[in-house]
Amino acid sequence: MQRLFFALWPPLELSRKLFRLGGNVLKGGAGRHVVAENIHLTLAFLGSVNATFRECAELSASNVQVDAFSLDLEWLGCWPKSGILWVGPELTPKALWQLVQQLNAGLAGCGHEAEKRPYAAHLTLARNARPCLPARVIDAHRWEIDRFCLVQSHTLREGARYEILREWKLIKPTT
Ligand code: ATP
Ligand code: MG
Repeated sequence: MQRLFFALWPPLELSRKLFRLGGNVLKGGAGRHVVAENIHLTLAFLGSVNATFRECAELSASNVQVDAFSLDLEWLGCWPKSGILWVGPELTPKALWQLVQQLNAGLAGCGHEAEKRPYAAHLTLARNARPCLPARVIDAHRWEIDRFCLVQSHTLREGARYEILREWKLIKPTT
């Protein structure tokens, strides 16, 4: 069994900026920061799955038809219960909804139970964040997205390690 999820993975340059942003926000406070290499946006969580399910999920990912898009990370917030400090878009672009929907439809076709919580596009910067303040607008970090990936989550004593197993390209605009 493998613990898998579909995600968007930022280029390291952007992840480093986001990591610094998290550090600045929690300066004088506290929180368990996500290291730059681990910062990501989850599209769909598969959980622990066997090889047959993984094959089905990969096949359905290959059928995804979504245009490349840009994402403005301009919204910084914190969910009080979990203390999750996050950045995300203020409005989720249509292409991101389509990507999530197509992946979930494919997973449902593989027999996967649909996620019940509404989708909230975000990248976690820290957990148990203090202070944990309501969402506010920040200077946008623009992220050009032209691919998505399947990731394996390895649970280690020192925290999660993520391994990108495979990537799929989004459709490039023809101009
Ligand atoms: P850890 O659980 O070790 O603290 P993590 O939550 O980042 O670290 P995973 O639990 O493997 O690692 O999760 C991988 C990704 O999937 C994370 O982005 C996580 O937020 C997301 N995720 C985990 N469980 C679910 C779930 N039940 N529904 C939706 N997304 C989930
Ligand atoms: Mg987890």
